[in-house]
Amino acid sequence: MTPAISNIMWSSGRSEAALEAALPVPIEIRPLRTAKRLRLRFDEASGALLLTCPWRTSRRAALAWALDQRDWIEAQLALAEPGEPFEPGATISFEGEEIRIVWDASAPRTPRLDNGELRVGGPEDGVARRIELFLKRHALDTMSREVAEFAAAAGVAAASVSVGDAGSRWGSCSSRGRIRLSWRLILAPPNVRRYVVAHEVAHLVHLDHSPKFKALEARLFGPGLAEAKTALRRIGPRLRRIGRRR
Ligand SMILES: [Zn+2]
Repeated sequence: MTPAISNIMWSSGRSEAALEAALPVPIEIRPLRTAKRLRLRFDEASGALLLTCPWRTSRRAALAWALDQRDWIEAQLALAEPGEPFEPGATISFEGEEIRIVWDASAPRTPRLDNGELRVGGPEDGVARRIELFLKRHALDTMSREVAEFAAAAGVAAASVSVGDAGSRWGSCSSRGRIRLSWRLILAPPNVRRYVVAHEVAHLVHLDHSPKFKALEARLFGPGLAEAKTALRRIGPRLRRIGRRR
């Protein structure tokens, strides 16, 4: 989520070991005389991160920077695992509930939620695409309403709300008030989704992660913010796998 300074603030006063433990996989830090900036790579074969950095970078600064790339790291981890494609018989998470995809060629093409099932008709080769469109539309409707709700509480308005799947971030807010959210948040339990929405709406007022920002974020979301944040970390990898072809 933008701007990405939250982990650097989090990291102040914490030991190198604590920073390293907060990363989901082992990391190898390699200072190079030729390096001009920090660079992170995920090695699928070893399952470890390789960070190269300029010669004088402290281990602590390198770890804090790596922690700041946590969304990117999680996206790489998710890509290294098989996807959970939208196909007949598969079970996906929708607003935190497990629902089964039921395909019947003679049923209406537009997917429809019915009693714990997502029913979809039409030709089988378009099933995955129709389900993704259905989820994106649902994500946009739901989160547009929530942005409006939180923005009203903050006394501001967003310039626009859109959903997408670009990059590794769950959400972003531009300095011009454009909020962009991952459609995958509709797969998550509502409190997780609402936490990301509240976070981005708070950026309409404060474009940083200052104490004022945090106070507003907490006021907008209400109780349970830390739990929602932790839940996103835990389920994030699966959210990224759902709907991806193998
Ligand atoms: Zn942020």
